[in-house]
Amino acid sequence: MALLELKNVNVRYIMKDKKVHACQHVSLEIEEQDSIGIVGESGSGKSTLASAVLRLLPQRITQVDGEILYNGKDLLKLTKDEMDALRWTDLSIVFQKSMSALSPVHKVGAQMEDVYRVHFPNAEKEEIKQRVYDLFKVVNLSDRVYELYPHELSGGMMQRVSIALSLLHNPRLLVLDEATTALDVVTQSQILREIMSLEQNLNVTRIMITHDVSVVASTCKKIAVMYAGRLMESGETKDVLVNPQHPYTQGLLKSFPSFKGAKNDLRGIPGSLPDLSQEIPGCVFAPRCPFATEKCRTVEPELKTVNGKGNWKVACHKVGGE
Ligand code: ATP
Ligand code: MG
Repeated sequence: MALLELKNVNVRYIMKDKKVHACQHVSLEIEEQDSIGIVGESGSGKSTLASAVLRLLPQRITQVDGEILYNGKDLLKLTKDEMDALRWTDLSIVFQKSMSALSPVHKVGAQMEDVYRVHFPNAEKEEIKQRVYDLFKVVNLSDRVYELYPHELSGGMMQRVSIALSLLHNPRLLVLDEATTALDVVTQSQILREIMSLEQNLNVTRIMITHDVSVVASTCKKIAVMYAGRLMESGETKDVLVNPQHPYTQGLLKSFPSFKGAKNDLRGIPGSLPDLSQEIPGCVFAPRCPFATEKCRTVEPELKTVNGKGNWKVACHKVGGE
């Protein structure tokens, strides 16, 4: 059984005068100890999908349907208490701008103690401190950060505190949503190396949302490519990056002259995302796709298996299928 299985997940933001279809028919399986990179240009629904899994979307203005099975249990059906019991120990997320995760009026260490005691109410301060110091090493922070207030930290330090916090309870599923993007390249790769070694030892599964395909290439076994709220292609990183099947994936990778090169954004495909509040017939990428045919403009392609490899899937009429 997959650790996380998304079945036909749809997410809509309900606005005054329109509905924004931020994720549509997303189906994806994530196995235990997988590391999967989710890529796609800005606005393609990556953060929305991650927030839906963690049940962090503002309830009042969002509509989520489909199934989000974690260990076979549908997270969308859990009560708030049941969901809270999974936070930190099972499901943990770090966003790019995670400042808001910490209160400005308490020292960093005290706040980490509070989070630790959510699951271990009787833990001794010394025990927690040791745990936090160990995690500070993982994210390359000095012990003195424990006694600092959030406003005394730089943005990068704050980001590293948030990553340490997310690891406090050895989560089984860790979601990093552009969590290391703003850090300098050396710090980023050092932290990711440390996290990868923790994963091996502690059985952590990682979802990594990033604009940087080179980071996926070096740290993720699998990759999922999103466009306009849809999953376009997913599979083993080595398969997809070497021989991308979907014209969108191909275009995306062309905008990366070299995976090892400097940080790059996902640009380079002419055109822009469609208006997600409109019904889009056929393939959402058809208006920008150099290979689009009449069928592409009218019939929505389903995810098909590529080359008989079970976990390599692509949603494109051009691709042969089984
Ligand atoms: P980025 O790479 O810029 O982080 P993303 O892939 O994470 O982009 P999302 O932030 O999930 O994309 O946004 C998907 C779509 O949902 C976009 O059209 C966005 O405008 C819309 N959206 C996101 N948050 C809200 C919100 N709170 N209210 C209304 N629409 C939203
Ligand atoms: Mg995002």
